[in-house]
This record gives sequence, C-alpha cells and structure tokens, in this order.
Amino acid sequence: MTYFRALDPFPLESADHTTLHEFYTRLGAGTLTTTKCRGCGRSAWPPRGFCAECGAAAFDWVDLASEGTVHAFTVQETGLPAGFEAPRVFAIVKVDGHRVFTVLTGAEPAALRVGQRVRLAPLRVADDPKGNPRWLPAFEVV
Ligand SMILES: [Zn+2]
Repeated sequence: MTYFRALDPFPLESADHTTLHEFYTRLGAGTLTTTKCRGCGRSAWPPRGFCAECGAAAFDWVDLASEGTVHAFTVQETGLPAGFEAPRVFAIVKVDGHRVFTVLTGAEPAALRVGQRVRLAPLRVADDPKGNPRWLPAFEVV
C-alpha cells in the first residue's frame, strides 16, 4: 500500500522521524513528559529539541503531573476529518504551569467548565506507516 503523508493527520513519532520520539514512547506508557534544557534549566511546552531561551540543544525529560485543569475549551461539531467523532472538545489544560493544547475525551460539552479537573488519558490514533502505535496527549474529565 502506498503511504501518502499529506493524508496522514498525525505526527510521525518514531526515532526515524523525530528527536523527540521518547515523548511519544512515554506518552504511550501513560506519562506526560516534556523537555528541560540542560543549559538554562527551563522546561518547555511543547517539548523541544533545542531551547528557545538559550539555544542549547541538550535536554532532559521531565515528567509532568497526570492531572490538570481546563484553562479554555471549544467544541467542534462539524468539519472534522474522516474517522473523528463529533462533537470534538479541544482544550487548553494547565499542567504544572504549562498550557497544553489537547483533546478532551468523553466530555459532555454543556457540562464542561473552566477550572474543571482533568486527568491524562493518552489517545491511541492510527499506527504509523510501519505499523508502530502512535499516541496523542488527551485528557478526560475526573
Ligand atoms: Zn535553555
């Protein structure tokens, strides 16, 4: 089967494609992590292969909390790509001082509120072209 990158909405997460592959490996194991610069000590979101503050390209992985709070959200009812169920709730979740753009799964849009506590629930999406599992950060209402 021919693989068309333009038709694949998900990141290529393997070590062949990104220096940040460990983020996805850890996410698949149930832990949200990010990068912390070895040069200046700042942690970034999203994870970065180099530091936007000091330019260093060396980093360590640090675990983030498995729970956060909804900072903002929106609901998409139509126009979703094939395979995505509506309504889709997109949110910015505050986790350890970072604002994580994410999907809320199983959320009832009318009942959702800013400040709502949510828990990490990584979302397995389509496998990559080589059959490796892929994961995206997602949260669920506590
Ligand atoms: Zn730095």
